[in-house]
Amino acid sequence: MNKESYMQGAEESLLHTYNRFPLVLDHGEGVYLYDTDGKEYLDFAAGIAVQAFGYHNREYTDALKAQAEKLLHTSNLYYNVPIIDASKRLLAASGMDRVFFTNSGTEAIEGAIKAAKKYAYTRDGHAGHEIIAMNHSFHGRSMGALSVTGNSHYREPFGPLVPGVKFADFNDLGSVKALVNEKTCAIILETVQGEGGIYPATDEFLGGVRKLCSEHDILLILDEIQCGMGRTGKMFAWQHYGVKPDIMTCAKALGCGVPVGAFVMTEQVAKRSLAPGDHGTTYGGNPFVGAAVAKVLEMMERDRITDHVNEIAPYLEKRLDELTDAYDFLTARRGMGLMQGIVSTKPVAQIAADALDEGLIVITAGSDVIRLVPPLIIEKQHVDEMADKLDRVLNRMG
Ligand SMILES: *Cc1c(COP(=O)(O)O)cnc(C)c1O
Repeated sequence: MNKESYMQGAEESLLHTYNRFPLVLDHGEGVYLYDTDGKEYLDFAAGIAVQAFGYHNREYTDALKAQAEKLLHTSNLYYNVPIIDASKRLLAASGMDRVFFTNSGTEAIEGAIKAAKKYAYTRDGHAGHEIIAMNHSFHGRSMGALSVTGNSHYREPFGPLVPGVKFADFNDLGSVKALVNEKTCAIILETVQGEGGIYPATDEFLGGVRKLCSEHDILLILDEIQCGMGRTGKMFAWQHYGVKPDIMTCAKALGCGVPVGAFVMTEQVAKRSLAPGDHGTTYGGNPFVGAAVAKVLEMMERDRITDHVNEIAPYLEKRLDELTDAYDFLTARRGMGLMQGIVSTKPVAQIAADALDEGLIVITAGSDVIRLVPPLIIEKQHVDEMADKLDRVLNRMG
């Protein structure tokens, strides 16, 4: 079959919820992807910040194969061995105390919201609490996660959503303070806003929100689904700020391609929140994802992935700054580590589409940001190749 017939097959059968790029991907190797015509693409999107180790990592693939030969799934009515290893590693990396594994980031958000509500319910003896979330945030597409997602375009058709959510402005502490009342049980935010346009929290904002939460016994939920797992140069982005969340959500690179998420909390929260009967999942934390998560975390620690990110990120920033300086329709670069965005006044969807012709995969964020979230294993040569390709694309636009 050729590319056109694959694409036609997809469009005839899949629900049309994406306007896909005309690209049928077949396999990957390192930081490169190959389509069904054999064309090579340098991948600076990593399956949206998922493929931290790139593609076809031998050690990881072998670990998955070994677990597949042994046991893929049991239920959460029994214990399994791989998830214990995965849990201990995730808790050690985050300094948190208890974890619940889910099948996606969205489900991790759902669990985090339920945990926060149950915590307040246990404390106050009644339900009816409120959550403060941020404008331009993204936390997922299910009804609960959508309720805390600050994007009216995503929300509008699906109301009424979960009530009791108020929206403040990210990096504006005053706007958060103004919304706190005796019903507030949690404040949820991305440490670095991803989909909204790559906005890192300021020290003042995150420190201020932490203080506010502690003073009022409000739980701070940090969504590290995109910015976590080493991407910013620390295992979790909040570790740059000298703060600690009460609940953290994690997914994307947690499984490096195996669908898994997690919400993680302190013992203080755990002992007053979700108890037997309050929450559950069929697949979540099964032996297969346990083996995947344990291997990802083992490799990240052993290979000191954050050291590598801290080594390569300044070079990426330098090359991106050069491009931003060279084209007047590029107005800013912002980001942390290997989570970077370039703001463009020319259509970013066009830039991402044109990049494919050059054999480069980049994605967009918000309405005007070119987003770069490459595999964490990129080297200088890949940064140079990306910058050269992007330069050619931008040159044609300008
Ligand atoms: C991707 C993402 C989610 C949703 O995760 P899914 O695995 O797609 O359900 C939630 N929050 C943030 C910050 C994300 O980037």
